[in-house]
Order: sequence, then structure tokens, then C-alpha cells
Amino acid sequence: MDATTAASSALEVLSRTFGFPNFRGAQEQIIGHVAGGGDALVLMPTGGGKSLCYQIPALLRDGTGIVVSPLIALMQDQVQALRQLGLRAAFLNSTLALDEQRQVEQRLLAGELDLLYVAPERLLTERFLSLLDQAQIALFAIDEAHCVSQWGHDFRPEYVQLNILHERWPTVPRIALTATADSPTRNEIVTRLDLGRAEQFVSSFDRPNIRYRIVEKQNPRQQLLRFLREEHPNDAGIVYCLSRRRTEETADFLAANGFPALPYHAGLSSEVRRAHQAEFLNGEGVIICATIAFGMGIDKPDVRFVAHLDLPKSIEAYYQETGRAGRDGLPADAWLTYGLNDVVTLRRLIEDSEADERFKRVELHKLNALLGLCETTRCRRQVLLDYFGETGTDACGNCDTCLTPVECYDGTVVAQKALSCIYRTEQRFGAGYLVNVLLGKADARIRRFGHDRVSTFGIGTELSAEQWKSVYRQLVAAGLIKVDVEGHGGLQLNWERCRPILRGEQRIDLRRDPDRKHNRGERREPTPAPADPEANALWERLRARRRTLASEQGVPPYTVFQDATLRELVTYRPRNRDELGRISGFGVAKLQRYGEALLAELQAHEAEHGRPAQIPELPPEKLRRQGTASATPADKGRVGQSGLSDTVRTTLQLVRSGASVDEIARRRELKPTTIYTHLARCIDEGELALRDAVALSDYEINTIRYALEQVPADSPMALKPAYEALNGEYDYGVLRCVRAAMETAN
Ligand SMILES: [Zn+2]
Repeated sequence: MDATTAASSALEVLSRTFGFPNFRGAQEQIIGHVAGGGDALVLMPTGGGKSLCYQIPALLRDGTGIVVSPLIALMQDQVQALRQLGLRAAFLNSTLALDEQRQVEQRLLAGELDLLYVAPERLLTERFLSLLDQAQIALFAIDEAHCVSQWGHDFRPEYVQLNILHERWPTVPRIALTATADSPTRNEIVTRLDLGRAEQFVSSFDRPNIRYRIVEKQNPRQQLLRFLREEHPNDAGIVYCLSRRRTEETADFLAANGFPALPYHAGLSSEVRRAHQAEFLNGEGVIICATIAFGMGIDKPDVRFVAHLDLPKSIEAYYQETGRAGRDGLPADAWLTYGLNDVVTLRRLIEDSEADERFKRVELHKLNALLGLCETTRCRRQVLLDYFGETGTDACGNCDTCLTPVECYDGTVVAQKALSCIYRTEQRFGAGYLVNVLLGKADARIRRFGHDRVSTFGIGTELSAEQWKSVYRQLVAAGLIKVDVEGHGGLQLNWERCRPILRGEQRIDLRRDPDRKHNRGERREPTPAPADPEANALWERLRARRRTLASEQGVPPYTVFQDATLRELVTYRPRNRDELGRISGFGVAKLQRYGEALLAELQAHEAEHGRPAQIPELPPEKLRRQGTASATPADKGRVGQSGLSDTVRTTLQLVRSGASVDEIARRRELKPTTIYTHLARCIDEGELALRDAVALSDYEINTIRYALEQVPADSPMALKPAYEALNGEYDYGVLRCVRAAMETAN
């Protein structure tokens, strides 16, 4: 199959089977390449739509797609979801009884499977390999390919042997996929899996729908409770804690406060763990309080928040753990509380460990990078992406430091006082003690040591105790203060770094921790439930129906429909099967299977509440939504090979000659919205940069971008919610241009 045929059939499969109108990012290229018989290495963030990259080529090519996956839970999940789409999918792993295994093997040999998921240790048995010899294989997909890396956390020795696939079946295309970003791992995958000649597809690791927030730790459980009550009262989420005990305490605490929360850690029996995980997957709004043992292999798309009550170990860990939120592309929160004690604890853990010096240095370096993220006054997303080598991105407008910029102040004098106080009290005490000395609070202990008579006693009344703690935290994070590991965690001076500051030779800037407790500005409505009561009633009705449909079949609700689809139903209110087919998520099988049930719910709701006066126009039929691959006579605006019609081209020339949108509109006697629509087409075709199309500041562009990203990822036609969220401040045409730029940037 050549690349062009592959591309147009791929689009058809996408819309007919999966029910989506268009591809995201590099999906289309990857699918074309693999369907055409090429090898590929795909690096894509979680939630970027990796599985379609092998599922569609497997459907386009003859034979069965063999998917190697190390995670049993994930296999089962994927197979359930594929069956919902009417596909012939199965898995082979240790959870199947022997006769079930034989059945799957028979179906493979009979050519009755589109996709077969298999664990690596099973794949590598001689028995299975010779079975494959007798079957027709469409492709090999190697999921979680970073498991091949001996330096990674997820190393699986069997993965190293997967190069046998290429030796034994040299003409079968292979596609290796991972969400691990760093280049040493990538190189290791290429070498070990013999993918030297594979095409590499590297996506941006940005997860724009995740809002990053790092708040100062005060009373973490109460802070968590407030966060949940205000922003996620009914949502599924994960709360990460450092210790097993803390996961249980936190789950109890949340349960006592009315949240369905369950603990998960390696110390629980495997039955309990399995039960809790199943409840999390199959229920709605269940919260798991877990150590890092939880998450690998969890493919639940509607996790609306990931909260950290303790610092993760590194930026990689933070990115990976927070990445479990919002896989469906709808808004999600990554929320972390962080304080001085976290820094002290982690520093001590590393320095106390038995590991060799080199390992400790690496770990300390990673911790410092993470502290840099916590203490930054820059956009958090920029710091994250910088860390993964994606430099030069714009401030995101969707993290706490963008939404509530952090104030900095000249902290030289304050730092001098804080450091002197450590010195005067002989470098033996923790921050609580030091703060009391600075504030002149002579408790019994301070008097006993005679520290009510040192020169730093009472010299710090300009700051509150909380503010002094923040100063100490920042100085520890910046490496000016060391933690005494041998003793009891007392703070000590790192002389080399402190001297210039104590001598007044170097200035230090400190951040003023925003008082986020009282900052209501950054809150937003719980998502994705609609705020309007009538729409919300319909949303709940549809969710209830989805629950029934799912439990009848014993599958998680999200494999029946994702939230984004329900959200579109609420927005567009389709009235018949044709209209329903235009909603994303409805392929042929789901239309057949669930169409009547959902239309009945929509009708019943309308009978009760009436039909809303304003309903946006339905998205066009799916195959027409995409560009060139399926251009039909309906696409009148498109002419010739350039992809731009004459009228659009005229607008483009005028804009290039420096005319403003209003001028062009006047001159051509067209509406400004029409001109903007032309410009959006030009951006789409790569003929025009967004900045040349709209006269907006970065901040404004980011604001619009953010509003657009709140629209379900799979209903790109829906501008209305974004338009309203921006209070109608920007023309629909402007939104169209920004959206076009977002799509081309992908
Ligand atoms: Zn930001």
C-alpha cells in the first residue's frame, strides 16, 4: 500500500470505526508510514493518542497486529475498548485459562483477529514464535518500549530479546512506542531493538490540558480537602503520598469527609490491590491514595486530578505521575503541596542511603532540578519542557505562576539574618527553632541554650513565622543551607555559597509565596460537567445511562463512551441517527450498539425540559471535516492544488502587503469574520504565521489558546464554548486563526 492510499483509508477507518473526525499531531504521518511497511519509533506523551498509531495500520494491512505489552491491566483495558468498537481483539497472558488460550491461538491461525496483545515472556516462547510462523502478521507493535532500557525503572529483561522479531520476520513492519522523553533512553531503544533504520517521530511532551500548581505546604490534608471540595467534588483522581502509612491515613481522612477514597500500596495483599484498582477503573469519581506503585498501566482517561501530598523524587517522576491526569484531553489538574520538611526529608533520604557516591550525586542533581521547578517564578510548563530539552516555548497561561505571577523581592538582608542565625546558634537546629529565635520568642529550650542572648535574637520581626519558613525553604532549595544528616536534621551553612551573601558581595532574590488560600481568581468550575442546570441534568442522565450500559457488560464506563463524547451530546443535542453520527466517538459499531439508547435519553430529557433556544450547528459529517484527503464538491472554497481558493489568496496578498483585517474587510466589502476565516485557512496551509494574522499580545494568544483547549479535544468545530468563556471579547474569526495555528503546531 502506498502512502497516499494509506492516508485516505486511514482517515476512513478513523471516522467509521473510531468515530473521530481527524487525526491529531503526527498520527496520520506515522500511520501512513507503518501501513506502508516502514519501521517507526514513536515518542509521544501520555494521552497523545499513541495506540491509534499501531491499531489503524494493523487494520489497514492484511493479517493480525501483534502488540507486545508488559502491562496486563493495560492489555485488558485496550482489548475491551477495541471490542466496543466492533473490532476483533484478544490478549494472551497468564490470567487466561488454558482452554481460553487455545481458543485465542485458534482465532489467530484462522485469521480471525485484528489485534492480539501479548506479554513479552509469552511472545518469546518457542511455541508462540512457531505459532506466529503459521499466522499472517500485519505488524509488530512494541508498547512501552523504554522497558528495554537497563537504566530505567521499568526494565524488563525480555524486552532486550525482542530484536528476534526483526531477525525472524524481516519484512513485517515494527513500531516501537514510548512516553519516555529523554534521549539516552531513545538511543538505547534504537540500539537494542535494532531500529537503526526506523523513522523517528518525536512529539512535543507538552500536556496543555493539565494545569500545574505547586502550593506551599501548611496543613496538607486540609489543603487537599479544600482543593477537592472546591474543584473536584465528584471527580476521579489520584493522591500520591511518600509512605504506605500516609496513603492509608489520607484515604481514611478523605472517606471520613465523604469522598470515596481507597488506599493502594505494595504492602496490601494482591486481592485488595486488585479490588481497589477495579473500583477506581469501573466506578466514577473514585479517589486512589497511593504510593508510586500505583499508576503504571492505568489507562483511565478521565482522571481529573493528580495531587501530590509529598514531593516526588524527580522531575521525570513528577511528569510521569501528573501525566496520568486528563488523558482524554479535557481539563485536568496537577496539584502539589511542598514545604521545607519535604526538602529536608528527601535530602536526608539520599544522603543517608547506602548507594555509592556517583549515584547519590545523580539523585541530588535530580532533586535540585525538581526544587528548581517548585521555586521557580517562571512558567512551570516552560521549566518542565526545558528539562526535557524542549526550549523556547511561550509562557503557557495555564499554570499557577502564569495565572498568579509570583512577586520577587531583594532578599539579601533577610537571607543574611537567616544565615547568621544558623551560625549564632551553632548550626544544630531546625527551621522552627531558628524562626523563634529570629522572632524573639524565648521558649524554654531557647533559654536553656542561652540563645535568647545571641545577636540575632528578635532581629526578624519584619516577617511572620510562615514567611521565615519560606525563606529557609528557599535557601535550602538553593543549596545555601545543608541539612545535617548525622545529627537530627539541623540546618548548616554551605560556606562556599553563603560567604558572598553574608559579606554583601552578592544579592539574592526571593519569591513571596502567594497567599493562595484567599486567591479565588484561579479557581474554575469543576469539569467537565456543565455549569448550566438544564445541561447538567442531561449530563447526569447520560452518565447514568453510560453506567448501566457499562455494568451490563462488566466494562469500565469510559470504554463505552468517553466524557468528551457525552459533552458533545449535551452541546449539540442530536435528534436522529444521522445527527448522532456526527458526534465524535460514534463509529459504526457504537452507533449501532448504543445509538437508540442515547437518542431515547436525549428525547426523554427534551420532553421534560424542552429544547434549548440556542444550539450550535452540528459538526459536519466526519469524512468531510478533514482537508485534502477527502475533498468533496461540498468544499467549495478549495480550488486547485495549492489548497487555497482565489478569494483566500487575495486576502493573503493584502495581509502580506501590510493591510489590517479591518482595512481588507472594508476594501473587499466583506465582513471581518470572513477575512479572519480566510486567514485561518492560510495558517492551516502553512502560508501565514499567526502573528501576521492577528494583532494580539502573547498573553492574549495564550488566553485564547487556553480557552480553546478547554473544548473537548475531539470536537474541534466547537468554538462557541471558547467564545463564551472569553466573554465574547474576541471575534470567532480570531479564535479560528488561533485554533488553526494550534493545529499546525501539532
Ligand atoms: Zn505557565
